[in-house]
Amino acid sequence: MKTAILEIKTSQHTQMLDVTDKIRQAVRSSGVKDGICLVYVPHTTAAVTINENADPDVVRDFTMELDKIVPWDDGYRHMEGNSAAHLKSSMIGFSDMIIIENGRLMLGTWQGIYFCEFDGPRHRKLLVKIMEDTGQSRLYREL
Ligand code: ZN
Repeated sequence: MKTAILEIKTSQHTQMLDVTDKIRQAVRSSGVKDGICLVYVPHTTAAVTINENADPDVVRDFTMELDKIVPWDDGYRHMEGNSAAHLKSSMIGFSDMIIIENGRLMLGTWQGIYFCEFDGPRHRKLLVKIMEDTGQSRLYREL
């Protein structure tokens, strides 16, 4: 198993960065042909999600609606003043898994992987764990 730590620099307060190419590069570098790619965000005010990367308006609509559901100011008690970012982070989630086949991420035609910043700009990390399918599960079935 191999883990890559990707350095992510966000430039806006709320931002969805397309990191698909970075993840593809990590998979290529691992040399794994068949397996699972786990993408994990080790932060409490950021997230990762998979969604359309063809029309940039999807990202705009996504962040706009999230802001309506979780307004920045809403009488929160958390002293740091970024409760909205903590909430969005848990709502969207900290990890995603993508199947790797023949060395390629099995994403749909319109799918891209997004690092979601909810309290930027900041320097962030994105962990990518690549797990190889060794075929041992087939042995269990045969036994
Ligand atoms: Zn906080």
